[in-house]
Amino acid sequence: MKSTIIQFFLIMALPIVSFGQTVNDILEQVDSSRTVQMVRELSGEDSTIVNDVPTIITHRVSGLDNNLAAEYIKEKLIDLGLDVTDDVYSPGNTGGRNIYAKQLGSVYPDSIFIICGHYDAKVEYCADDNASAVAAILEAARIMSQYEFENTIIYALWDQEEIGLVGAKNYANKAAANGDKIIAVLNMDMMAYENDGDNLFDIDVRNIANSYQIRDDLIALVTTYGFNLVPNVVDPGTSASDHSAFWTQGYSAVLFGEAWSTGDRNPAYHSVGDRINLFDLEYYYNMVKLSIAYMATKAVLVPISSVLLLDPSNMLVHPNPTANTVTIDFGQQFVGKLVVYTLNGKRVLSQKIEDETSAEIDMSTLPSALYLLKIENEFGESTMVKILKE
Ligand SMILES: [Zn+2]
Repeated sequence: MKSTIIQFFLIMALPIVSFGQTVNDILEQVDSSRTVQMVRELSGEDSTIVNDVPTIITHRVSGLDNNLAAEYIKEKLIDLGLDVTDDVYSPGNTGGRNIYAKQLGSVYPDSIFIICGHYDAKVEYCADDNASAVAAILEAARIMSQYEFENTIIYALWDQEEIGLVGAKNYANKAAANGDKIIAVLNMDMMAYENDGDNLFDIDVRNIANSYQIRDDLIALVTTYGFNLVPNVVDPGTSASDHSAFWTQGYSAVLFGEAWSTGDRNPAYHSVGDRINLFDLEYYYNMVKLSIAYMATKAVLVPISSVLLLDPSNMLVHPNPTANTVTIDFGQQFVGKLVVYTLNGKRVLSQKIEDETSAEIDMSTLPSALYLLKIENEFGESTMVKILKE
């Protein structure tokens, strides 16, 4: 037997130094060309690859079988390492199917913020309605899944909105029955059309729960980050999109989208003319960024630790952030295993430690992201140490 008692103390971790991660850092990562490409693929302008098969999403009409679009979304979210639910609430070829991913908050896992939109469509194309929001939500997930937040985030894509908010109602009803503590629902529906140069966007709100807080936060964030957007509050807001399924259950929610109420509507609404060529791309990017700013701000970023002290010995993880390798000084002999995970629990590296005082982990092949290092041996596992790969 090894000196197991000392090893046991190794598992008590105490972070002492942290450095900032900001919402600005997150916003800088919004990739407009990637987002537009997703709109093009979701609206059938370009071919794509779904489950390794080259294909074209010719439509997203739920009554005509929109499973290909559902698979596209599901694959994108799974690739991020997120915990994805494929909720076939109404089985069958033309049945309803919500796809959503959960990113668990590390401090308040029961407090939920939902960013959502419907992926089904009225007819072919329907780029603005609502591939615009689907792509925005997928981009939000891509970036924010690399960070740690205090509160839980759910990235949700609803089915069958166009035939009566069926998917969102199904989810909201179950959430209410389950007592889910949903703090806010940001529902996005048509967010890329701007034709009169005023950069107005609508916040449809009603005096239900704390919905006014979402309105106020969105308005404040426009100023905070200097987005070239002008908020327009619609109160009482329309009930003609998925947020109203949450209002019905007494949850705080708003509709966030282009300036429908002030006469700047997409003229191709619910027609095959609703294609990406009608987008005002700069307006769209700002809308995407504002939605991500809202989620990142409200879910509250958790700063990562760069140094870790162990009692009774000193343990050091350095450099952190790292571009290539990270060294772990155990401060004493250690036998066990180092395992590196993505923030969402996907194991990416594993390394055995055979009675050593330090170890190096080569992270050079991993994508830039925040990772979790777990140190474990036969007596248990350590608190996760966060490592930022640059
Ligand atoms: Zn819509």
